[in-house]
Amino acid sequence: MSVDSSKKETFEYKAEMNQLLNLIVHSLYTHPEIFLRELISNASDASNKVRYLQITDDTILDRNKDLTIKIEVDEKAQHFSIEDTGIGMSREDLINNIGKIASSGTLKFLEQAKEEKEKLGDLIGQFGVGFYSAFMVTDEIVIETRHAGKEGVGLRWTSAVGGNYTIEEIEREQRGTKISFRLKDEFKEFSTELRIKSTIKKYSNFADFPIYVGKEKVNTIAPLWTQKAKDLKAEELNEFYKFIANDWEDPLDYLALSLEGVGATFKALLFIPKNAPFELMRTQEHKTLQLYSNRVMIMEDCKDLLPEYLQFMRGVVDTEDLPLNVSREMVQSSPVMQKIKTTITNKVLAWIDKMATKDTEKYAEFYRTFGKLFKYGVNSDFSNKEKIVELLRYETSRKDEGVLSSFKDYVARMKEDQKEIYYLSGESRGQVESNPNMEYFKKHETEVLYLIDPVDAFIIPSIPEYDKKPVKAIDKGDLDLKSDEKEGEKEKNQLSNALIDLFKETLKDRAQEVRVSKRLVDSAVTLVAGADGADKHTEQLMKMMGQDVPQSKRILEVNADHPVVRNLSKRYIANDKDPMISKCILGLFESAQLIDDELVSKNAYVKRMMEIMEEATQ
Ligand code: ADP
Repeated sequence: MSVDSSKKETFEYKAEMNQLLNLIVHSLYTHPEIFLRELISNASDASNKVRYLQITDDTILDRNKDLTIKIEVDEKAQHFSIEDTGIGMSREDLINNIGKIASSGTLKFLEQAKEEKEKLGDLIGQFGVGFYSAFMVTDEIVIETRHAGKEGVGLRWTSAVGGNYTIEEIEREQRGTKISFRLKDEFKEFSTELRIKSTIKKYSNFADFPIYVGKEKVNTIAPLWTQKAKDLKAEELNEFYKFIANDWEDPLDYLALSLEGVGATFKALLFIPKNAPFELMRTQEHKTLQLYSNRVMIMEDCKDLLPEYLQFMRGVVDTEDLPLNVSREMVQSSPVMQKIKTTITNKVLAWIDKMATKDTEKYAEFYRTFGKLFKYGVNSDFSNKEKIVELLRYETSRKDEGVLSSFKDYVARMKEDQKEIYYLSGESRGQVESNPNMEYFKKHETEVLYLIDPVDAFIIPSIPEYDKKPVKAIDKGDLDLKSDEKEGEKEKNQLSNALIDLFKETLKDRAQEVRVSKRLVDSAVTLVAGADGADKHTEQLMKMMGQDVPQSKRILEVNADHPVVRNLSKRYIANDKDPMISKCILGLFESAQLIDDELVSKNAYVKRMMEIMEEATQ
């Protein structure tokens, strides 16, 4: 093949790419060795891709070539290279996958890195800045590659830190990729075999392909998931997780499965990460489980193995029941997949449940990190809804900030005569605690669940009752509350029906109803939702999400014991035409709206208050 070397092209990096390179070059690293893990991980991915093609496509280059990863070092020249026989890269691959920041995760990384420079080493691991981490240890990188496809040609990509990269055609017979560079002086240790070998033992022992350093094979390649669960060591599992998930931190927990006779035969190693990747909520980019068929990876990110609410999990599933040479679409729609998914879902829920009972701290950590996603299972997985409801946790009025309780805990603490489960949703604990609707519950020491994660408001309508007890928002009108009269207070000030009627008349366009409150202690008035209206917080959330919710009229509850209300009563008895009374009624109503963020006109409210103050100061 003849190569036209005059066709060397130069490309400029985009601004954000330069930013990334700058960060990598100018920061201090706690773990420079992760560049090696990243490069091996890329070589291993590329090998996995070609292994699948070797079985399914007879036109690929070097179809029968062994899959190996070779690392060569030269101490004198401070030189390092890594070569794989994987899928290789085309010109487009080089431009789109290497030359650009493809994932929004990496952009997030940039933002975060600007704030936390000292943690960059960890961040690189977390976000898999991948290939570019090599710029920690070198100033210039050369990639030589050839794609395994029919159109593949030899290509050389070169880039020094700063500005641009070049691509040119070269003579290259075999498929795969070789990456080489000279190490900076301060990192010349990585040009010794000893250092490379020990690093591989630590980070990349589980690449499923032999890794050679010089002539010696340095990794154990028996896939971990084929081993018996009892033989698995925590240390190994942690490293395996980090290797497949590109994570820097150990996982929070793991589960090893080996199943037969459930309609599918498969082995799996599943992990819950410690951190939620930024991409998590955008499930397109977030990777979940790798699917293997008889030890050959057929999909590197198989979302069909888990319901959406469990897609924070990482790991490997290997089954004997899927033929290799079927299309991915067929894999996805195969009944075996459905069986595996159902089985994994059940096992994972049982595992999480065990964690919740045996290790509450770990569970709380899990819940903080992945709860937002996990909770949606209540709405989306009908067959497991009850199990997931048991796993929900809330702060409550009975416990300190940060302490989480389940419905079960709540019910166990319920007083004998309490028939309902109470909750209040809001933005924060502080906001919920100071809500006037809490007054009755504080006074009676009746526990209230605080739903302060925005997701909670979307989940709770799916839980109308728990343990046969209705689950109710305390800012709704239909609660089973005890009336609050104590002995000797019987003849205390009661609101006359006539005054209530005046309230109703004055507010007839604005309130659905006016009634004497059982739940207020210190506040004069509060607004609650009717039995079939949404609670306020939910309504606000729906609006925030652009949903068209009709603003339902509220019920005004009046505290007959409040001095202002008592004074109104007296004035009313003295003169039922007193104009001050209806002014105060409107003022009270609007202040309740103000507290709930529902006040329509601040100006009208202030004007009314001025009139009332004017009279009071005469
Ligand atoms: P990531 O591996 O997280 O996708 P990288 O920056 O490490 O990010 O790599 C970017 C992309 O470049 C990879 O997704 C892959 O498409 C390509 N790539 C990197 N190294 C290789 C390699 N050795 N062989 C083939 N493709 C590679």
